[in-house]
Amino acid sequence: MKDKFNIVVKTGKQIAVLFVAIFILGVTENSYAQDRKIDTNALISETQRQSKDADKISMIWWIPEEFWRASFEQSQNLNADQIEAFLKVLRPYIVIVALDGEMGSLGGISYKSKESIQSTMKIVDSEGNHYSPLSNENIDADTNNFLSQMKPVFSNMLGAMGENMNFYLFSAKNQKGKSILDAKEEGKFSVLMDKVEYKWKLPLSSLIPPKLCPIDDEKLNGTWKFCPTHGVEITKKICPVDKKRYANTWKFCPTHGVELN
Ligand SMILES: [Zn+2]
Ligand SMILES: [Zn+2]
Repeated sequence: MKDKFNIVVKTGKQIAVLFVAIFILGVTENSYAQDRKIDTNALISETQRQSKDADKISMIWWIPEEFWRASFEQSQNLNADQIEAFLKVLRPYIVIVALDGEMGSLGGISYKSKESIQSTMKIVDSEGNHYSPLSNENIDADTNNFLSQMKPVFSNMLGAMGENMNFYLFSAKNQKGKSILDAKEEGKFSVLMDKVEYKWKLPLSSLIPPKLCPIDDEKLNGTWKFCPTHGVEITKKICPVDKKRYANTWKFCPTHGVELN
Protein backbone atom coordinates (compact mmCIF):
# COMPACT_ATOMS: atom_id res chain seq x y z
CA MET A 1 0.00 0.00 0.00
CA LYS A 2 2.73 2.36 1.01
CA ASP A 3 4.54 2.63 -2.29
CA LYS A 4 1.27 3.53 -3.93
CA PHE A 5 1.79 6.97 -2.51
CA ASN A 6 5.18 7.24 -4.12
CA ILE A 7 6.93 8.68 -1.16
CA VAL A 8 10.38 8.10 -2.36
CA VAL A 9 12.99 9.25 0.04
CA LYS A 10 16.22 8.16 -1.48
CA THR A 11 18.73 6.83 0.97
CA GLY A 12 21.16 9.32 2.32
CA LYS A 13 20.83 12.83 1.20
CA GLN A 14 18.44 12.98 -1.66
CA ILE A 15 14.81 13.65 -1.23
CA ALA A 16 12.95 12.69 -4.32
CA VAL A 17 9.29 12.70 -5.03
CA LEU A 18 6.98 13.64 -2.25
CA PHE A 19 3.35 13.01 -2.79
CA VAL A 20 2.07 14.75 0.27
CA ALA A 21 -1.00 16.45 -1.09
CA ILE A 22 -1.95 13.41 -3.06
CA PHE A 23 -1.51 11.28 0.01
CA ILE A 24 -3.79 13.52 2.03
CA LEU A 25 -6.49 13.37 -0.57
CA GLY A 26 -6.13 9.66 -1.14
CA VAL A 27 -5.41 10.01 -4.79
CA THR A 28 -3.49 7.84 -7.18
CA GLU A 29 -4.74 8.56 -10.68
CA ASN A 30 -3.94 11.28 -13.15
CA SER A 31 -6.35 14.12 -13.46
CA TYR A 32 -8.00 16.00 -16.24
CA ALA A 33 -7.56 19.70 -15.96
CA GLN A 34 -8.91 21.80 -18.77
CA ASP A 35 -9.56 18.57 -20.64
CA ARG A 36 -5.93 17.67 -20.60
CA LYS A 37 -4.22 15.08 -18.51
CA ILE A 38 -1.64 16.51 -16.16
CA ASP A 39 1.13 14.14 -15.26
CA THR A 40 1.34 14.91 -11.54
CA ASN A 41 4.54 12.89 -11.20
CA ALA A 42 6.23 15.04 -13.81
CA LEU A 43 4.76 18.16 -12.24
CA ILE A 44 6.13 17.22 -8.82
CA SER A 45 9.61 16.51 -10.07
CA GLU A 46 9.58 19.72 -12.07
CA THR A 47 8.60 21.78 -9.04
CA GLN A 48 11.13 20.33 -6.59
CA ARG A 49 14.76 21.39 -6.33
CA GLN A 50 17.43 19.94 -4.08
CA SER A 51 20.79 21.15 -2.93
CA LYS A 52 23.66 19.73 -4.95
CA ASP A 53 25.93 19.97 -1.93
CA ALA A 54 26.54 16.46 -0.59
CA ASP A 55 26.56 17.63 3.04
CA LYS A 56 23.18 19.28 2.79
CA ILE A 57 19.67 17.94 2.93
CA SER A 58 17.93 20.87 1.46
CA MET A 59 14.87 21.06 -0.68
CA ILE A 60 12.54 23.63 -2.13
CA TRP A 61 9.16 22.51 -3.39
CA TRP A 62 7.14 25.14 -5.17
CA ILE A 63 3.49 24.05 -5.20
CA PRO A 64 1.73 25.88 -8.03
CA GLU A 65 -2.04 26.20 -8.22
CA GLU A 66 -2.07 23.66 -11.04
CA PHE A 67 -0.76 21.02 -8.67
CA TRP A 68 -3.38 21.70 -6.02
CA ARG A 69 -6.07 21.67 -8.67
CA ALA A 70 -4.91 18.38 -10.16
CA SER A 71 -4.77 16.82 -6.68
CA PHE A 72 -8.17 18.10 -5.65
CA GLU A 73 -9.75 17.04 -8.93
CA GLN A 74 -8.52 13.53 -8.36
CA SER A 75 -10.22 13.33 -5.02
CA GLN A 76 -13.58 11.65 -5.21
CA ASN A 77 -14.66 13.48 -2.05
CA LEU A 78 -14.54 16.95 -3.47
CA ASN A 79 -17.04 18.53 -5.84
CA ALA A 80 -16.28 21.47 -8.14
CA ASP A 81 -17.49 24.06 -5.62
CA GLN A 82 -15.36 22.64 -2.85
CA ILE A 83 -12.33 22.54 -5.14
CA GLU A 84 -12.86 26.16 -6.06
CA ALA A 85 -13.21 27.04 -2.36
CA PHE A 86 -9.83 25.45 -1.62
CA LEU A 87 -8.15 27.07 -4.58
CA LYS A 88 -9.53 30.46 -3.61
CA VAL A 89 -7.80 30.16 -0.26
CA LEU A 90 -4.46 29.32 -1.90
CA ARG A 91 -4.59 31.53 -5.00
CA PRO A 92 -3.35 34.79 -3.41
CA TYR A 93 -0.06 33.12 -2.50
CA ILE A 94 3.03 31.50 -3.92
CA VAL A 95 3.35 28.36 -1.80
CA ILE A 96 6.81 27.01 -1.04
CA VAL A 97 7.71 24.01 1.10
CA ALA A 98 11.29 24.08 2.28
CA LEU A 99 13.73 22.00 4.25
CA ASP A 100 17.29 23.02 5.08
CA GLY A 101 19.52 20.61 6.92
CA GLU A 102 23.20 19.96 7.27
CA MET A 103 24.83 16.61 7.74
CA GLY A 104 27.31 16.37 10.61
CA SER A 105 30.51 14.32 10.38
CA LEU A 106 28.81 11.35 12.09
CA GLY A 107 25.74 11.50 9.91
CA GLY A 108 23.50 13.43 12.30
CA ILE A 109 21.44 16.11 10.63
CA SER A 110 20.85 19.55 12.04
CA TYR A 111 17.89 21.36 10.55
CA LYS A 112 17.38 25.09 10.38
CA SER A 113 14.31 26.41 12.16
CA LYS A 114 11.33 27.81 10.32
CA GLU A 115 12.08 31.27 11.75
CA SER A 116 15.66 31.20 10.58
CA ILE A 117 14.71 30.10 7.06
CA GLN A 118 11.82 32.57 6.93
CA SER A 119 14.12 35.48 7.84
CA THR A 120 16.46 35.00 4.88
CA MET A 121 14.41 33.28 2.18
CA LYS A 122 13.67 35.30 -0.96
CA ILE A 123 11.95 34.83 -4.27
CA VAL A 124 13.68 36.54 -7.17
CA ASP A 125 11.47 37.20 -10.19
CA SER A 126 12.52 37.38 -13.86
CA GLU A 127 13.31 41.09 -13.48
CA GLY A 128 15.53 40.53 -10.47
CA ASN A 129 13.06 41.87 -7.87
CA HIS A 130 13.33 40.24 -4.45
CA TYR A 131 10.36 39.22 -2.33
CA SER A 132 10.26 38.02 1.28
CA PRO A 133 7.88 35.46 2.75
CA LEU A 134 4.74 36.81 4.41
CA SER A 135 4.49 36.71 8.17
CA ASN A 136 1.55 34.80 9.65
CA GLU A 137 -0.44 37.96 10.40
CA ASN A 138 -0.42 38.76 6.70
CA ILE A 139 -1.80 35.40 5.66
CA ASP A 140 -5.51 34.71 5.57
CA ALA A 141 -6.78 32.67 8.55
CA ASP A 142 -8.37 30.06 6.25
CA THR A 143 -5.09 29.60 4.40
CA ASN A 144 -3.12 29.22 7.62
CA ASN A 145 -5.71 26.76 8.82
CA PHE A 146 -5.57 24.67 5.64
CA LEU A 147 -1.78 24.51 5.64
CA SER A 148 -1.51 23.76 9.34
CA GLN A 149 -3.73 20.75 8.75
CA MET A 150 -1.35 19.54 6.08
CA LYS A 151 1.77 20.10 8.11
CA PRO A 152 1.49 17.01 10.42
CA VAL A 153 1.40 14.78 7.35
CA PHE A 154 5.02 15.64 6.66
CA SER A 155 6.08 14.57 10.15
CA ASN A 156 3.94 11.45 10.12
CA MET A 157 5.46 10.27 6.88
CA LEU A 158 9.02 11.48 7.09
CA GLY A 159 9.82 11.75 10.78
CA ALA A 160 12.38 14.37 11.76
CA MET A 161 12.85 15.37 8.15
CA GLY A 162 9.13 15.99 7.78
CA GLU A 163 8.94 17.89 11.05
CA ASN A 164 11.41 20.34 9.61
CA MET A 165 9.51 20.84 6.39
CA ASN A 166 7.49 24.01 6.54
CA PHE A 167 5.34 26.18 4.35
CA TYR A 168 6.55 29.62 3.31
CA LEU A 169 4.03 31.86 1.63
CA PHE A 170 4.69 34.81 -0.61
CA SER A 171 2.23 37.21 -2.11
CA ALA A 172 1.33 35.98 -5.61
CA LYS A 173 1.24 39.57 -6.90
CA ASN A 174 3.75 42.37 -6.77
CA GLN A 175 2.98 45.92 -5.66
CA LYS A 176 1.70 46.78 -9.12
CA GLY A 177 -0.83 43.96 -8.85
CA LYS A 178 0.97 41.84 -11.45
CA SER A 179 1.53 38.10 -10.91
CA ILE A 180 5.12 37.45 -9.85
CA LEU A 181 5.20 34.14 -11.70
CA ASP A 182 2.98 32.04 -13.90
CA ALA A 183 3.63 28.32 -14.29
CA LYS A 184 2.27 28.37 -17.84
CA GLU A 185 3.93 31.50 -19.20
CA GLU A 186 7.46 32.02 -20.42
CA GLY A 187 9.68 33.32 -17.64
CA LYS A 188 11.93 32.36 -14.79
CA PHE A 189 12.34 32.81 -11.07
CA SER A 190 14.43 31.50 -8.26
CA VAL A 191 14.22 30.89 -4.55
CA LEU A 192 17.15 31.90 -2.38
CA MET A 193 17.66 29.89 0.78
CA ASP A 194 20.80 30.30 2.82
CA LYS A 195 22.71 31.75 -0.14
CA VAL A 196 21.84 28.80 -2.37
CA GLU A 197 19.79 29.64 -5.44
CA TYR A 198 17.14 27.19 -6.66
CA LYS A 199 16.11 28.14 -10.18
CA TRP A 200 13.10 27.52 -12.36
CA LYS A 201 12.55 28.13 -16.01
CA LEU A 202 8.95 28.60 -17.07
CA PRO A 203 6.57 27.43 -18.38
CA LEU A 204 6.60 24.03 -16.68
CA SER A 205 6.64 21.49 -19.48
CA SER A 206 4.22 19.18 -17.62
CA LEU A 207 1.55 21.88 -17.96
CA ILE A 208 2.07 22.60 -21.64
CA PRO A 209 0.35 20.32 -24.16
CA PRO A 210 2.82 18.37 -26.30
CA LYS A 211 3.48 19.57 -29.83
CA LEU A 212 3.87 17.36 -32.88
CA CYS A 213 6.91 17.31 -35.14
CA PRO A 214 5.80 18.65 -38.56
CA ILE A 215 7.81 15.89 -40.27
CA ASP A 216 6.84 12.65 -38.55
CA ASP A 217 4.18 13.75 -36.03
CA GLU A 218 6.28 12.60 -33.10
CA LYS A 219 4.97 14.01 -29.81
CA LEU A 220 7.41 16.59 -28.52
CA ASN A 221 7.78 18.57 -25.32
CA GLY A 222 5.39 21.52 -25.61
CA THR A 223 8.02 24.03 -24.52
CA TRP A 224 10.42 23.11 -27.32
CA LYS A 225 10.76 25.30 -30.38
CA PHE A 226 12.66 22.82 -32.56
CA CYS A 227 12.38 19.08 -33.12
CA PRO A 228 15.57 17.51 -31.70
CA THR A 229 15.49 14.75 -34.32
CA HIS A 230 14.90 16.78 -37.47
CA GLY A 231 16.06 20.21 -36.34
CA VAL A 232 12.96 21.79 -37.87
CA GLU A 233 11.00 24.52 -36.18
CA ILE A 234 7.75 23.31 -34.66
CA THR A 235 5.65 25.97 -36.27
CA LYS A 236 2.30 24.30 -36.66
CA LYS A 237 -0.36 23.13 -34.31
CA ILE A 238 -2.36 20.05 -35.14
CA CYS A 239 -6.03 19.18 -34.70
CA PRO A 240 -6.17 15.95 -32.67
CA VAL A 241 -9.29 14.85 -34.58
CA ASP A 242 -8.26 15.00 -38.24
CA LYS A 243 -4.56 15.97 -37.91
CA LYS A 244 -5.06 19.08 -40.01
CA ARG A 245 -2.43 21.74 -39.36
CA TYR A 246 -3.03 25.29 -38.20
CA ALA A 247 -0.81 28.28 -37.47
CA ASN A 248 0.62 28.44 -33.95
CA THR A 249 -1.56 31.41 -33.11
CA TRP A 250 -4.71 29.24 -33.21
CA LYS A 251 -5.82 27.80 -29.89
CA PHE A 252 -8.82 25.76 -30.97
CA CYS A 253 -9.69 23.88 -34.14
CA PRO A 254 -12.24 25.98 -36.06
CA THR A 255 -13.91 22.80 -37.33
CA HIS A 256 -14.00 20.62 -34.25
CA GLY A 257 -13.67 23.18 -31.46
CA VAL A 258 -11.06 21.06 -29.69
CA GLU A 259 -7.79 22.41 -28.34
CA LEU A 260 -5.01 22.17 -30.93
CA ASN A 261 -1.80 20.33 -30.11
ZN1 LIG B 1 10.91 15.64 -35.93
ZN1 LIG C 1 -10.24 19.77 -36.19
